[in-house]
Amino acid sequence: NKSLVWFRRDLRSFDHAALFHGLKQAKQCYCCFIFDSTILQHLPEDDRRVQFIYQSILELRQELENLGGGLIVRYGDAHIEIPQLAAKLGIDAVFINRDYEPQAKERDLAVQKSLQKIGCQLLSYKDQVIFEQDEVLSLSAKPFSVFTPYKNAWLKKLASEIEGGADFYFKPYPIEKYAQQFAVHRDDFMPSLQEMGFQSLENEPKLKGGMRAGSALIEDFLDRMDQYGNTRDFPAVKGPSYLSVHLRFGTVSVRYLVSLAVRQMRTANQLQGASVWLSELIWRDFYFMILHHHPRVVGHAFNPEYDAIQWESGEHAQALFQAWCDGKTGYPLVDAAMHQLNQSGYMHNRLRMVVASFLIKDLGIDWRWGEAYFALKLIDFDLSANNGGWQWAASSGCDAQPYFRIFNPITQSEKFDSEGKFIRRYLPQLATLNAKQIHAPWTLGPIELAAAKLQLGIDYPEPIIRHDVARLKTLERYNIVKKAN
Ligand code: FAD
Repeated sequence: NKSLVWFRRDLRSFDHAALFHGLKQAKQCYCCFIFDSTILQHLPEDDRRVQFIYQSILELRQELENLGGGLIVRYGDAHIEIPQLAAKLGIDAVFINRDYEPQAKERDLAVQKSLQKIGCQLLSYKDQVIFEQDEVLSLSAKPFSVFTPYKNAWLKKLASEIEGGADFYFKPYPIEKYAQQFAVHRDDFMPSLQEMGFQSLENEPKLKGGMRAGSALIEDFLDRMDQYGNTRDFPAVKGPSYLSVHLRFGTVSVRYLVSLAVRQMRTANQLQGASVWLSELIWRDFYFMILHHHPRVVGHAFNPEYDAIQWESGEHAQALFQAWCDGKTGYPLVDAAMHQLNQSGYMHNRLRMVVASFLIKDLGIDWRWGEAYFALKLIDFDLSANNGGWQWAASSGCDAQPYFRIFNPITQSEKFDSEGKFIRRYLPQLATLNAKQIHAPWTLGPIELAAAKLQLGIDYPEPIIRHDVARLKTLERYNIVKKAN
């Protein structure tokens, strides 16, 4: 019998659930990847994610060939390409790792139906998360909507799994063991980026695609994981792991990452950093779970009363939004963060919170606008985490920031980039300002500005909003909704 492993957001050749089962359960196992035209046609031609995927696919194909197999690569509509390939190769079952996004679920269901018509099964596996939506439930068997009890239940479940199987839970799927099942099939066709409508960005992205790049980042992070709790909030410091894009496209294994965190947690001095980091990975599972149980969060507030909020509208709102997108709000930390996003496709977590709060609670713009901009720009864009992050900042989500807690962008800047190092990296025109001045240049007098050779409104924008005024307006905006309910 023949199997076909369909790679999607799991672009690695090791510790891979679907690949393992596809090999184990068949005599001949084929592998494929589809550059899905239905998704790609909506992306800009310089989309960094496509570059990342492309690099990852080249490497994956090579690695699969090294193992004795290969990777069939196609450009087209997956609804059509997968059943066509299955029919052509005489496949009995297509193996996939489960994808939890609503559109992907619809696609997989449709593909399954088409495959059934040709007598082929679609078999799916858990791979992308540690625990799926219904594996961590409350005592009354209901899904959680608050993070801390979810996390406690998640950790308890993990502990019981580990005890039960003496770390068996983390044992990587042994791909090599079944490598002789790979079908000998060389297919050298590889659509070029240009053929698919994309530019080849030679110098981009800064973040390299592929498994090797992912493991290099893991190695690098291991040395500083114990410091994570102290460093993760400071954007000028190399604190976080920068693994999000690799988690997004599966060039690293989340099981392996969790096993590393657990191992580090067993060493006393590593406890703090590793357990804080593990919490972040649990947030990732949490938001996948929320998206599954509450698909309405796509486009709507988790907490429906917040859908009644009257956001700024019209040309005025468009202009404010554009200034935010372009990093021209006049608030240095916000602007530097937006430049980081626009230039690299990445933004530090603290800054995601700061700019989201600024857009929603200083500029009064609908959080969905910001969510959409992040979706376009973030190299690690994940519907569940992005939506969760935006709803957190808008106070409309599950376990969100209370609506009356409004970040002060200047205080955030003083606290998390106290010396202005991060700001200077992205706004060199402010480099002449000292650590005290850099957070709010409009408060400087003419002599200080002249000494710094800075002309506000020319070299750097005047602030587009006054935080104290905006804050009151936002409280009012939210209070109306609160009173109505
Ligand atoms: P680390 O600090 O090293 O964390 C390790 C991993 O944990 C991350 O790679 C990520 O997979 C996961 N993680 C960390 N924080 C969160 C979180 N709050 N929610 C879910 N998972 C988390 N993360 C995305 O992966 N994709 C997004 O589209 C995304 N959009 C966001 C939007 C907003 C408004 C906010 C506030 C946060 C968003 N995050 C998103 C979460 C977080 O900012 C990023 O995961 C993190 O900055 C990625 O950097 P890192 O890999 O160095 O993270």
